[in-house]
Amino acid sequence: MPATLAEIPTLFHKFRVAKRVLDRVSIWDGDITNLTVDAIVNAANSRLAGGGGVDGAIHRAAGRNELQAECRKYNGCAVGDAVITSGCNVNHIKKIIHTVGPQVYGSVTDEKRENLIACYRTSLDIAIENGMKSVAFCCISTGVYGYPNDDAAKTVTKFLTEFLENDDQIERIVLVTFLQVDNELYNEYFAKYAATK
Ligand code: ADP
Repeated sequence: MPATLAEIPTLFHKFRVAKRVLDRVSIWDGDITNLTVDAIVNAANSRLAGGGGVDGAIHRAAGRNELQAECRKYNGCAVGDAVITSGCNVNHIKKIIHTVGPQVYGSVTDEKRENLIACYRTSLDIAIENGMKSVAFCCISTGVYGYPNDDAAKTVTKFLTEFLENDDQIERIVLVTFLQVDNELYNEYFAKYAATK
């Protein structure tokens, strides 16, 4: 059975501060295709062709032909941008948002960091435009695209906390951590955020 939001505690239950933000964020260990939320965000490639990692898992769960047919209509996607498809009957999710993260070789430049933030911002903008209230993100770019986990967790935590401080539409963001290192890093950076409250 896929996990539901009701079963996943928010960070407010852990930190007991900043309810407006932390009661809308969860960190969840698992496979993003095993979760029921309004929308999941895929770390796609610029051809939207389906690939390995989380992209492959989502395409497999969706049924490759169906999802590829929907993706083909977009004729690709730029780095930092995102497109939206149906949920393809994956766990009653309503939509799949496909974003293309930056590829990092060596150290992170400001441009790559802005690209990563753009992935999260554009995905949330598209989610809101489409009436999505709960959105699950995989750790975009931190797999084969080589973005360092620590910088990504720090950057994403900063962006999402600022976003949620100003947004009234999104009810829950689930940060899906497939690797323990990402779970630890998100917990560390959200604890630092909580400590400022
Ligand atoms: P990218 O090409 O953007 O780096 P990857 O798929 O290689 O994308 O990795 C992105 C993140 O997704 C990594 O943290 C990886 O461990 C994670 N991941 C891989 N499979 C899954 C899955 N089924 N559900 C959630 N996260 C996953």
